[in-house]
Amino acid sequence: MDINKPKILIIDDEETICDACSQVFIKDGYLVEISLEGTSGLEKIDNFKPDIVLVDLKMPGISGMEVLEKIAEKDRNIVLIVITGYASIESAVESMKRGAFDFLAKPFTPDELRIITRRALEKRRASLEAERLKREKERMRQNFISLVSHELRTPLVAVMQYLEVLGGGISGEVSKEQSKIINRMKIRLNELLKLIDRWLKLSRIEELKLKEGFQDFSLSSVIGEAIDLVKPLAYERNVNLKVKSIANNIIINGDKEMIKEIFTNLINNSIKYNREGGSVMVESREHEDFWVIDVSDTGIGIPEQEIAHIGEEFYRVKREGNAAGSGLGLAIVKKILDVHNGKLEIKSKLNQGSTFSVYLPKVKIAKGKEGLRGLGEGNK
Ligand code: ADP
Repeated sequence: MDINKPKILIIDDEETICDACSQVFIKDGYLVEISLEGTSGLEKIDNFKPDIVLVDLKMPGISGMEVLEKIAEKDRNIVLIVITGYASIESAVESMKRGAFDFLAKPFTPDELRIITRRALEKRRASLEAERLKREKERMRQNFISLVSHELRTPLVAVMQYLEVLGGGISGEVSKEQSKIINRMKIRLNELLKLIDRWLKLSRIEELKLKEGFQDFSLSSVIGEAIDLVKPLAYERNVNLKVKSIANNIIINGDKEMIKEIFTNLINNSIKYNREGGSVMVESREHEDFWVIDVSDTGIGIPEQEIAHIGEEFYRVKREGNAAGSGLGLAIVKKILDVHNGKLEIKSKLNQGSTFSVYLPKVKIAKGKEGLRGLGEGNK
C-alpha cells in the first residue's frame, strides 16, 4: 500500500453519495475510483487494487452482499465498509458475516466517513503487516530447515562414516581402549543425528501434507505395524503390551506413515515411562465424529501441573533418572494430529499411569456409497 496515497473504491448506484464521498477522500489525499454498480466495481478490483472498498448494500443488478463476498474471495486484506440506507442490525450483522469491517448508515457526515475510513486503513496496515511477518517467518523456517539439513546433518554423517572407518581398523590397528572410545563417540553422534532427524520431521509435517496427498486406509493394520516396531522394547523392559478390540472397520483419511508415527511414539513412551512388570493397553472407541484410540499405561505418570505443557517442543518432565529423550516425540504427535484435524487428550495420575487418547476424524462417506469401504457393523 502506498502509505501517502491510500486507494479507495466506492461502489454505489447513488451518484450524489459517490461524489460527496470522493470529495472528502480527495481532500484528505486518497486516490478514489467510483463504480455505479457491482459488476463494474468488481472488475476494477484487479487493476485499481484498492485498500478499502465502500459498498452500498442496495443496488440494482448484483447485490451488495454478493459484491462483498466476491471481494473477500479475491483478497481477504481489502477492508470492506458497507453503506446502508436501511440500517438494520440484521443487514449489518449479515454484512459482517460476509467479511465487512464496519458499516455507515445513510445519511452520514463527512466526519463519520473520515473516522470509519481511518480505522479501516489502520486495519488494512495491520493485516498487511501480519501477512508480511507470516511470509518472513515461513522464509526463515525454510532457510533454517535447509541450514539444519545441509550444514549440520551432512558433516555429522561424514564424521560418522570416518568413525566407522577408524573403528573397523581399516585405517590402522585400533586398541581395545580406543575402540571403546570410538563406540561411545558413535553412540553420542547417533543420538545427535536422531535428534536432528526428529526436528526435521517436525518441521516438514505441514509440507508433507501438501505434497503427499491423503488416502483412506484401515487403522488396525497401521496400529499392528506400530506395535511390531515397539515389541522388542516391551520385551526388554518386561512390560506387558496388550491390544484390545481395535475395530477393523476404522478407516482414516491421511498419511499412513505419519499416523504410524503417532502410535509408535505413544506406545514407545508408555513402555519407556512404565515400571518393571507394568502393562500397556491399546484400545479403540467412538466419540461423536471421531475414532478414539486410547494408549494407557501403568507407569510413572505426569504431575498434574505439567500435563498442559506436554507436547510443547523440547518439553520434558523434570524427574530423577529421566529416560533418554529429546522432548520432540509428542510435539510430532500433536503436529501430525493437527494436519489430520485430530487431537490428543492426556489424562495422567502420578505414580499410577497415563492415558493418551488419539482423536481422528471419521471419514465422511458420500451419499449412496455406504458399504463401499466395508463399514458394516459386522466387520467389528
Ligand atoms: P521424550 O520422551 O523424548 O522426552 P516426548 O515428547 O515423547 O519426549 O515426551 C515428553 C515428556 O512427556 C517426556 O519427557 C515424559 O516426561 C513425558 N511423557 C511422555 N509420555 C509419557 C508417559 N506415557 N508416561 C509418563 N510420562 C510421559
